[in-house]
Formats: sequence, C-alpha cells, structure tokens
Amino acid sequence: MTDETIFTILRAFRARAGAHWLLLFDFDGTLVDVVTSPDGAKISDTTHGLLDALIERDDCTVGIVSGREISDLRQRTALGSTAWLAGAHGFEIEGPDGTFVHPAIDDARETFIAIATQVRKELHRFPGVAVERKRAALVLHTLAADAGVGARARERFIEVSQPYMAADKVRLHAGRVAFELLAPANWNKGNAVHWIRSQVVARRGQPVLTLYAGDDVTDEDAFGALDEGDVALVVGDRPSQAPFRVRGPADLQRVLHALVDART
Ligand SMILES: [Mg+2]
Repeated sequence: MTDETIFTILRAFRARAGAHWLLLFDFDGTLVDVVTSPDGAKISDTTHGLLDALIERDDCTVGIVSGREISDLRQRTALGSTAWLAGAHGFEIEGPDGTFVHPAIDDARETFIAIATQVRKELHRFPGVAVERKRAALVLHTLAADAGVGARARERFIEVSQPYMAADKVRLHAGRVAFELLAPANWNKGNAVHWIRSQVVARRGQPVLTLYAGDDVTDEDAFGALDEGDVALVVGDRPSQAPFRVRGPADLQRVLHALVDART
C-alpha cells in the first residue's frame, strides 16, 4: 500500500468535515490475519489500542461486523460496551444504543441440530474437519484439513443439508473462511450496517460518515449499503466494488493510525 492510498482515504474524510465518524470493520482477514484454526484469531495490542483511541472520542463510533458470534467477538476484541458488535453476519447486533436479534435465528435451530447430528456421525471420514453449531449458523471448519479431505467434507455437508435447503429451512453460505448454513432470512451485513447507522444517526442527530472495511465476499453487501461520500475499503486482492483498497490487516492498521492522527 502506498501513502497515496491513505491520503485519498483521509481526503474522503476531510470532504465531510463536521460529520460523525462511524467506523465499521469486518474481523477475520481485516483486523486480524486469517489463521488456519478458527480459535487462533485475536486482535493485536496495537490494533486494540488504535480502536480504543477512536472509541474514546465523542465524534467517532466504532463497530465490528462479522460472521462470528457476538460472544466470540466480545472475547477477541475486548473493546468495551461503547463499541458496536454485529455477529452472525448481522443476525445479532449489540451496541450502546440498541440490541437486535433476527427472529429467523430461533426458527433455524432445530434444523441446525438435525444436520449437525448427521454430519458428526460421519466426521471420522474427514480428519481435520469440525462442525460447530452456533446460535445463528452451522459451520463446517475445513481449514485444518487436507484440501482434498476438506472438499469431500464440503460435498457431504451439502448433501446432508440439501433436503433442508430445498424446503427453505436453511441457506448455504460459502465465504472465504467459513463454509456454513444460515437461517434463510434475507438479511446480511448490509442490513446490519443500515441498522447500526440508523441508531447512530438517531442518537447523534448529525450527518454520519461511514467507513466499512472488509476482505470477504459477504462484505460486498456492506459496501453496497454505504452512501455516496462514505468510504468502502476492501482488504486484500479480491475483485470488489469498493473504491479503496489495502493489502491486508497490517496496512489497515496504518489506516487506523492515520485516522487517529487525523483527529488529534
Ligand atoms: Mg473477513
């Protein structure tokens, strides 16, 4: 990443002088490097310090929008109750101005249990693969398995899920990190961005400039929810509608540094 990238991002912020900042970040691959074990990712002290510095300001609101669940995010980020956390791709949201839980989470529970039970019976055939039942998703973890084993496990996961998908009880979501089943509701990270922003606007009663940074295909929904003049920042080299781009979490940390400095 060149300094030019940081400069153009700061210029977008300066163009909206006086606006409250709403800074929203995906977690895996954005604030932290993607690691092979889903348990390994934790925010670095430096990133934590920078986010904290932004959170402490009255003219800035910070949030994390992730496929992980809120309880998991809270542990990994330790950002305190004034930060927004949107988990399960936005199906659950908690923050200083409100809480949201999508009703489809409860509707999908029985289906998740049925599929998880079946798949777990067959896991001995797929070393390194794990199934995790979350509140709002059923996740197949294959990053720790050989590529061939992972591919076969995903095929079998889809086979077992097929009748439920056909009955519109769950939908498959294949992201960069997670391969999972979600409730079939038409709800995504873009809806979460809208929801959080409307709470912040209501509370602040002033214009809000939103920055959203993310690396995954699911983050495109969030980019699409942004307004003109907002900052959509893609992390990595994936094709994206986002006009701003950094190479990885280390570069995003430089952007955070620049934002901290820009308001001191
Ligand atoms: Mg990500």
